[in-house]
Amino acid sequence: MKHADVIIVGAGPAGIAAATAATRHGRSVLLLDDNPKVGGQIWRSGIKAASQHADKREDARRDKVLNALASSSATLLFDYRVFDAPAPRTLHALRETEGGAEAVTLRYERLILATGARERFLPFPGWTLPGVFGAGGLQALVKGGYPVRGKRIAVAGSGPLLLAVAVHLSEQGAQITSITEQAPLAQLMPFVASLWSHPAKILQGIGYRSALRKTPYRTGCWPVSALANEVTGSLESVRFTDGNKTWNEPCDLLACGFHLVPNTELASLLGCTLRGDFVQVNDQQQTSVTNIYCAGEPTGIAGLDAALIQGEIAGLACAGQPTGFLLARNAAEKRFAKRLKSAFRLRPELRLLAAGDTIVCRCEDVTYEELAGRNEWTDAKLQTRCGMGPCQGRICGPATQTLFGWTPKSIRPPLFPVPVSALCSHDSQYDVLQENA
Ligand SMILES: Cc1cc2nc3c(=O)[nH]c(=O)nc-3n(C[C@H](O)[C@H](O)[C@H](O)COP(=O)(O)OP(=O)(O)OC[C@H]3O[C@@H](n4cnc5c(N)ncnc54)[C@H](O)[C@@H]3O)c2cc1C
Repeated sequence: MKHADVIIVGAGPAGIAAATAATRHGRSVLLLDDNPKVGGQIWRSGIKAASQHADKREDARRDKVLNALASSSATLLFDYRVFDAPAPRTLHALRETEGGAEAVTLRYERLILATGARERFLPFPGWTLPGVFGAGGLQALVKGGYPVRGKRIAVAGSGPLLLAVAVHLSEQGAQITSITEQAPLAQLMPFVASLWSHPAKILQGIGYRSALRKTPYRTGCWPVSALANEVTGSLESVRFTDGNKTWNEPCDLLACGFHLVPNTELASLLGCTLRGDFVQVNDQQQTSVTNIYCAGEPTGIAGLDAALIQGEIAGLACAGQPTGFLLARNAAEKRFAKRLKSAFRLRPELRLLAAGDTIVCRCEDVTYEELAGRNEWTDAKLQTRCGMGPCQGRICGPATQTLFGWTPKSIRPPLFPVPVSALCSHDSQYDVLQENA
């Protein structure tokens, strides 16, 4: 059992900023994350991740934020994943160990959800081949030591993450064959033009492009299939189209993701109202549940600056401090998020890529044709087991939302697969499982 005035789920930029702000004003803070280190998606490889193309001001900002956390009084808890909220002001989290799993009960006065986002994957023939990765997923593997030196990598899908990933992979010695963005140029131009009010983002974009000046960046094009080598069965090339012509691009790896999807499952479980895909918050980052706050990507995909500002607002609000001096900057980041969403909206052709035998739910091997006859998400789950595997619909859920317009009706615990033994080691409502075991 652990208790803190403020518990923060997610130690990415939003969670770190929230923890630092709340501890600065005397609150006891517990910051937990399911990764082994602080930093979230962008800073997961730690403080010493500077690379030859990295913007030195960005490095300095990251070091400042991480050092402020290190010198704060926040308690850090890593490798723990929150999977349930069994009672008011109570969470259950789990850490997998070599011998099994350890669960912990967490009690809070105020809770800040800073659970970030994940990539959206869309099925197309060959997307499950060895050698096809999520763009951010491959980046995360490489940050963890996966070697890509000398590999030819095609980067495709949608969103600004593609450029960041391509630069990172290139710095690690990969040859980026192309970057392929599904959004047409005309859809992107208003967004690019609006960046005049965010000079740091313009500089970042220019830095990325100059690092990859020899790599083709195609807009209005998308992958239609990934093709395997007949002998090895691994990826050999990717077939792209611009809607008129198609062509094959030989490569060793494909890094492909279609922008980001917010991690809102815990917020939903806690009863927080969603607006569209995102957690609804007020100016103080407070959700519809009085003592629960939310910051960063679950409230709108807006990037690092927004995560840091919103985290700080949430931390200050939890400590009863004024936040007015941050509201104008947050409003500007929210406008940026709206433009980002519009610029990278998905083209309708992407809904038609899957063939009948293309797997949509890769945990349970459910194909497109098995799902095409179903009415909605629950029907599909009941009839095909779609969404019932280890990822609990985190990958196929957003895919079926894009393909068929389905949305999950309810979120139930456990949010992640949890060993029954770990549940039974708890003092809680799970006793019934022990009795029945
Ligand atoms: C795969 C990926 C790679 C990215 N790479 C880049 C990049 O290179 N450059 C860039 O500018 N932007 C990148 N982004 C975007 C970046 O994440 C955002 O711009 C911003 O930094 C988000 O900050 P955040 O604190 O809101 O979320 P995150 O940084 O995503 O942090 C959220 C944290 O919460 C943890 N978490 C979620 N649910 C639970 C739970 N139930 N229990 C415990 N912990 C939980 C997650 O594991 C994660 O560590 C990436 C995004 C993704 C999804």
